[in-house]
Amino acid sequence: MRIGTGFDVHAFGPGDSIVLAGVRMAHSRGIIAHSDGDVVLHALCDALLGAAGLGDIGMHFPDTDPLWRGVASSRFVSTVMEMLSVRGWVVGNADITVIAEVPKLAPYRLEMRRTLAQLLGVGENQVNIKATTTENLGFLGRREGVAAQAVVLLAPKPG
Ligand code: MG
Repeated sequence: MRIGTGFDVHAFGPGDSIVLAGVRMAHSRGIIAHSDGDVVLHALCDALLGAAGLGDIGMHFPDTDPLWRGVASSRFVSTVMEMLSVRGWVVGNADITVIAEVPKLAPYRLEMRRTLAQLLGVGENQVNIKATTTENLGFLGRREGVAAQAVVLLAPKPG
């Protein structure tokens, strides 16, 4: 078994929606990012790569590479999952914390969980999404952006 953690932040910018855990949700702002700025999937990639001892998302998908401009971050997760699969790893479980005052995740939480389970090739009961605020403190509290933390456990592929 191997454990990994990930953390990511993106700032709000012009726009009317953001993507978290592969789910687009209406918001009064957009996200400033090279890709779609999905902090959940970016933190998740870092947790997966960390658990496997494979560095971080910036090493594999540099934001200076035009190849990754504007792509859906689910592409990053699928690519990382292939890297883990060839090395004999499957996901045991993933636990995600989204840190933001806005938007509120409640209406999207089931869909986020379903999307993450699909991307990771696990059951929905192996994925958990938590949401918290910073009690109006700091840049997240001032609603300047959104952050996510991820913890992932990898297990050897059965058989
Ligand atoms: Mg990021």
